[in-house]
Amino acid sequence: MSLQICDIFSFHVNGKRIDCRFKNPYCTIDFAKFCRQLNSKNKANFLKASVINIEQGELFKVFTSNGSFLSKYVVDATGYRASIAKLLKRCYVHNDALSFGIETEVPYRTKDFHFFYEPSFIKDGVAWLFPCGEFSRFGVASYKGETKLLDKLDLFLQRYNLKRQKVHGGFFCYCFKEPVVENVFVVGCAQGQTLPLTGEGIRRCIFFGIKCGEIIQRILDRRINLNEGINEYSNLALKARRDFNFLLAAQNRLLKMSDISIFRETLS
Ligand SMILES: Cc1cc2nc3c(=O)[nH]c(=O)nc-3n(C[C@H](O)[C@H](O)[C@H](O)COP(=O)(O)OP(=O)(O)OC[C@H]3O[C@@H](n4cnc5c(N)ncnc54)[C@H](O)[C@@H]3O)c2cc1C
Repeated sequence: MSLQICDIFSFHVNGKRIDCRFKNPYCTIDFAKFCRQLNSKNKANFLKASVINIEQGELFKVFTSNGSFLSKYVVDATGYRASIAKLLKRCYVHNDALSFGIETEVPYRTKDFHFFYEPSFIKDGVAWLFPCGEFSRFGVASYKGETKLLDKLDLFLQRYNLKRQKVHGGFFCYCFKEPVVENVFVVGCAQGQTLPLTGEGIRRCIFFGIKCGEIIQRILDRRINLNEGINEYSNLALKARRDFNFLLAAQNRLLKMSDISIFRETLS
């Protein structure tokens, strides 16, 4: 499943390279294949529809583009939009705390994960190069949600004499929010499970998604009640706040720095 495993993250700052070896290695995966395999184990009915509204009564009533559904338990896993939580709590989504990134996969082999912090090249953002076997993923992101990044991606690729292929990307939020809103469980980027600074989220969103599913299963099996389940999920999700805040502070600090001061701070 994994395409390449690396334990070195290289930070490129002001033309210099700083290598950090991680205790636990990271890997790149074929995300589409991973999702297909995961879903093949899923015995639930899958319906592709947009959630439009939700009403609270004895049961939740969820209105979608493909009919309405009654349910005792609802999970909002709609990414940065938090489409359900924001219907129940106005101001749940912070549109001023969104990063935006794009990425392309091109034929290029390298060994390590690379992050580039160069304000004079990409202001308020980061560029990265992640190896995945015969290919590498080149990406750029803005911590301020700037969406016009194609030129930056092209310039980044030009450094390696490469041309952009198919591009994908979007917003991800850096706002840590309450894990349960009006008895709706909020999972993934919707709750703030994508990390600031690095934008890493897949591993964490899957971890919390599985934990949330297990808790709801125990509620369904009457081994715990709803309140116990809500407390358990909330406590688990809120434990991540410390690491989240650490990375957010680093991201905010980075936004205030020039190329030179970043380099000095990174070395100190
Ligand atoms: C360019 C880029 C590169 C990235 N690279 C990495 C990486 O290398 N490693 C990593 O770990 N993370 C990476 N991330 C972050 C990662 O993509 C997120 O952490 C992850 O996708 C969050 O998962 P999620 O399921 O919470 O949300 P999403 O993946 O955003 O999924 C939410 C889904 O809900 C749907 N939805 C929204 N509103 C509604 C509605 N009203 N009704 C129905 N459906 C709705 C959306 O269409 C979407 O399909 C990257 C992000 C970007 C933008």
